[in-house]
Amino acid sequence: MSITVRGLHAVEVLDSRARPTLTVTLATDEGGTVRAGVPAGASTGSREAVERRDGDPARYGGQGVRGAVAAVNGEILDALRGRSFDRLADLDGTLTALDGTGTKTRLGANAVVGVSMAAARAFAAAAGVPLWRSFAGAGGLGEPRMPVPHFNVVNGGVHAPNALDFQEFMLAPLGAPSVAEAVRAGAETYAALRTLLIGRRLSAGLGDEGGFAPEIATPEEVLDLLVEAITAAGYQPGRDGIAIAMDPATSELYRDGAYHVAGDALTSDQMIDRYEAIVDRFPVWLLEDGLAESDWEGWERLTARLGDRVELVGDDIFCTNPVIIAEAIDRKVANASLIKVNQIGTVTEALEAMRVCREAGYAQFVSHRSGETADDFIADLAVGTGCGHMKSGAPARGERVAKYNRLLEIEEAEHLPYGLDGPSR
Ligand code: PGA
Ligand code: ZN
Repeated sequence: MSITVRGLHAVEVLDSRARPTLTVTLATDEGGTVRAGVPAGASTGSREAVERRDGDPARYGGQGVRGAVAAVNGEILDALRGRSFDRLADLDGTLTALDGTGTKTRLGANAVVGVSMAAARAFAAAAGVPLWRSFAGAGGLGEPRMPVPHFNVVNGGVHAPNALDFQEFMLAPLGAPSVAEAVRAGAETYAALRTLLIGRRLSAGLGDEGGFAPEIATPEEVLDLLVEAITAAGYQPGRDGIAIAMDPATSELYRDGAYHVAGDALTSDQMIDRYEAIVDRFPVWLLEDGLAESDWEGWERLTARLGDRVELVGDDIFCTNPVIIAEAIDRKVANASLIKVNQIGTVTEALEAMRVCREAGYAQFVSHRSGETADDFIADLAVGTGCGHMKSGAPARGERVAKYNRLLEIEEAEHLPYGLDGPSR
């Protein structure tokens, strides 16, 4: 099913952090009019596709996206208008070639990804199928299934102004029978956690992804609290009930050759020891960015030590880049990749990253960004590629909940199997 581009229009709007981003509307002859909202990160990898910001200090502290909007409404529209495309890969290839930099720097990765996401929707609409189904059967990906939602319920790092250095602590209802029950488990535990925090006179204020941001500095104290909240909500801590996932986002903690955690300066090996002790004591099943993006030797040792016990996800170190992931597979670094479409800049390249992972037995963990819109694209991406798990922040705040609600709607309509395809390490 091909699409013929009739119109394309971007608008500068706000993301969930009061920063500008873009919505892109695409009109095609076959797929009607579709829209996409562009996400944006705060703890970004240095090799991510380059987001275009205006840098004009007089507007939004330099964060405006008028240049990216102009690229969509001018050069990209001129290049696509009236043209027909048989496949999303062809349209994405046209965008990448038009940009010409390899990093989307000239047009802006935020401009390009908005057009690519809208185009993916247009292809699905033209084929008369829901977005998730258009990813299924594309080759090299999994069979459609409902992902385990990972609810980020405690925020630290650059996502909150508290003393907590680790960025994300997530509830992973691996043992739930369905998304509906997983969402319920996440929401009930979130409520139990709030009660616990208030009972201890800790702040129940929220970070950027809707998780609580209490004044707790050490990760182990947070993990204790999560186990208590899971139990208080009536669930079993662990893989048969609610497991825990962590994204310390350590590239942000790594300065002068040391990791700075709760006042200590730790080597890579001390970090690995710390993680091993955490995994021995708490039901942590997934660790994302356990070491910094520049610390490949540390990552090799981390993977050798914990790779059999824990899903080790590369985010900042991989940037959803198929070439970097292929290198990591060669070096036995990590056993999973985070998948953020805006990190690489087109949907086609993100799908390619997922294929490279799948072929090597690396898991794929589909993700939102800290700056989000109400766009629920990632829910369909996670379902259609059968990747088994997805993170979209807390079970609170509209821009986070939009993705979980989309999962609930898909599940209600389709009765797809739930959970990871294979053992959770
Ligand atoms: P970001 O963080 O969207 O702010 O980059 C998310 C993550 O590190 O996973
Ligand atoms: Zn991360």
